[in-house]
Amino acid sequence: MRPTYFSSLFTRTMREDPTDENVESAKLLVRGGYVRKMAPGVFAWLPLGLKVLENVEKAIREEMAHIGAQEVHLPALLPKSVYAPTGRWDEYGDNIFKLKDRHGADYLLAPTHEEPFTLLAKDLLSSYKDLPITLYQIQTKYRDEARPRAGLIRGREFIMKDAYSFTLDEEGMKACYSEEREAYEKVFRKLGISYVIVHAFSGPMGGSESEEFLCPLEIGEDTFVQAPSGKAWNVEALKTVEKEEDFSSLPLPKEISTPGGGSIASLEAFLEKEGISSQILKNIAVVLKAPDGKKSVAVVGLPSDRQLDLKRLEACLSPMEVSIAGEEDLKDHPELVKGFIGVGKVGPQASGPAKCPYFLDAHVFKGSSWCTGSDKKGFHTLNMVCGRDFECDKVVEAAQVKEGDLSPDGSGKLSIRRGVEIGQVFQLGLKYSRSMGFKVAGPDGSQKDVWMGSYGIGVSRIIACIAESYRDEKGLIWPITVAPFKVHIVCARKECKEECERLGVETSHFGLETLIDDRNESAGVKFADADLLGCPIIAIAGKGYMENGEIEIKIRKSGEVRKVQAREAAKEILALSEELRSNLLDSAHLE
Ligand code: ATP
Ligand code: MG
Repeated sequence: MRPTYFSSLFTRTMREDPTDENVESAKLLVRGGYVRKMAPGVFAWLPLGLKVLENVEKAIREEMAHIGAQEVHLPALLPKSVYAPTGRWDEYGDNIFKLKDRHGADYLLAPTHEEPFTLLAKDLLSSYKDLPITLYQIQTKYRDEARPRAGLIRGREFIMKDAYSFTLDEEGMKACYSEEREAYEKVFRKLGISYVIVHAFSGPMGGSESEEFLCPLEIGEDTFVQAPSGKAWNVEALKTVEKEEDFSSLPLPKEISTPGGGSIASLEAFLEKEGISSQILKNIAVVLKAPDGKKSVAVVGLPSDRQLDLKRLEACLSPMEVSIAGEEDLKDHPELVKGFIGVGKVGPQASGPAKCPYFLDAHVFKGSSWCTGSDKKGFHTLNMVCGRDFECDKVVEAAQVKEGDLSPDGSGKLSIRRGVEIGQVFQLGLKYSRSMGFKVAGPDGSQKDVWMGSYGIGVSRIIACIAESYRDEKGLIWPITVAPFKVHIVCARKECKEECERLGVETSHFGLETLIDDRNESAGVKFADADLLGCPIIAIAGKGYMENGEIEIKIRKSGEVRKVQAREAAKEILALSEELRSNLLDSAHLE
C-alpha cells in the first residue's frame, strides 16, 4: 500500500456551504469533496466518497459472506413484464422511472428487485435440494422520490444492498430472516452507526413480519415510538391498545342545536358554555385512490383531540393512497354536510345509493360515548355510543400517535422519536413466488411452494447518516472503519516534506490508508481541510518537528493531541488506530 498525495487527488474542498443543500451532512460531504450533486437526488462520487463507499460495502460483504449469502448483480433496466405479474408496475405509482425502448416497449429503472430475483431463482433452481439459498447484490436503484432531500439520504439514484432468501417452508424463511437480521446488527456495529430496531409496516412489499433499522436522527422523516421496555415501533405499525366498555347504563342519543360554522373549536366552545362534557367524534371525508387510478370517497371517524395521520391510515388501507377530500371530490355526496358529518349516512348505518364506507379509528372503541354531527347544518347529537348507535366497515389506525400514549406491550408510556431508515428486513411469505409461479420439486416429486424473505440496506444513505451523526462545526468526523484514510498527514512547513513522506510510507506499510497533504497551501488551509475531511488520525509535521523532532498526533474526534518523536510516530499511530477501532465497537450500540 502507498500513501495518497493530496496535491494529485481529484477533489476540491470548499469554505462556503453549497446553497442547495439543507442538512449539515450534505453540506459537509459536498464541501469536503466527497460527492457532487448533478441533479436533484442524483450524485457523482469523487475518489474520497468512493473510498468511504467501498469501506461500507466491505463491511456488508464480510457479514453477507459470514451467513453464506452469495453475491450476484442484476440490471437496473428491466422490462415491464418482470414487474407486471405482482401488480407492482402499477402499485409503485409515480415513484418508478418508466421509459420506452425504440420499439415502444415499456421498461423501468428498478426501484427494488424482488421480481427479477424470483425469476432468476426460478430459472436456475428446480429442486428442494437447491434450497435454502440467499442471494444478494450491491446495486444502484432508481426511485422518482417526490421530495429528494438531505443529500444522499433520499436520492433518486442510490445504492442499496438487497438480499433475497428462498426456502422450502416458513420455518426456513424465519431462520434466514434472523440470520440476516443478526448480520445487519454486526454491519451497523462495525460501521459505528447507532440504530434502533422497530416493528414495521410492510407496505407494498406485502408479507407478514417486518422490522426496520432506524438511525436516530432529528432530521429523519420516520417517526417511531419507543416503550420503556426498549421495544420500538414505526408509527405506521403501531396498534392502539384495544379496549371495550359496558354501555348498558349510558344515556340515549339526543340531538342538540349547535350554532357556529361547524368547526371543532366552535363546537367545543359551545359545549363548554352549555356545561356539557362530552368527547367529540370528528368525521373527515377522504379520497381513496386505487392503484389503477380509480378514486372513491370514504369517511374516517376519530377523536377530535387528535390529528388525522394520513400515513398511518394509508398503511391500514394499502395499496390505496389517501388524501383529504376537497369540495370538488364531494360534489356527488350531498349527504356529507361539511362541518356536521355524522355517522348516520355512512358505512353500515347508511341507506340509499351514495353510501360511503366508514372507517373508525381504534381509539373510538366499543362502549365509548361521543358527540358527533347530525348530518344537517347546525345540529349535533350527544350520547352516540360506538357499538350501540353506530358501527363501521373497518377499524383503522387513523389518529396521530401522542407522546405518553400507552405501549401495546404493557410496559408503560411511549416516547416519540425521529430517525432515518437505514435497513429493513421482510418475511415475504409466498407473495412473490406464488404470483410468479416459482415452485420446486419436493422429496416426493410434488411441486412445493417457495418461501421468501427480502432484506435491504441503504448503502449510500448510511454514509449520509454517519456523516450526520458524527460532525462538528469544523467538519466531518468519520469512524475509523468508514474513513477514506485512517491517517491524514499535514505537512505544515515545506522543510518537513521529506519527513512527511517517510512517515506516510511507514504508516502505509502498517496497512493504514494514508493521505499526505503536500500541497502548496498555508498551514492554516491544510489544518482546516484536515478537520473538514474528518479522517480519524491527523499527524502534523511543522514547528514541533523543526524544533524538537516531534510529530503531533491529533485525534479528530476528541481533539486530543499526543506529541511523539518522529521515529516513534508510525508505531504510535498504529496503536492509536487499534484503540479507535475497539472504542468504536464499544460505542456503537443497540439503543
Ligand atoms: P423510505 O421509507 O425512506 O422511502 P423505503 O422503506 O421505501 O424507504 P426500502 O424499500 O425498504 O425503502 O429500501 C431498503 C433501504 O434502501 C431502506 O431501508 C433505505 O435505507 C434505502 N433507501 C430507500 N429509499 C432510498 C432513497 N430514496 N435514497 C437512499 N436510500 C434509500
Ligand atoms: Mg423500508
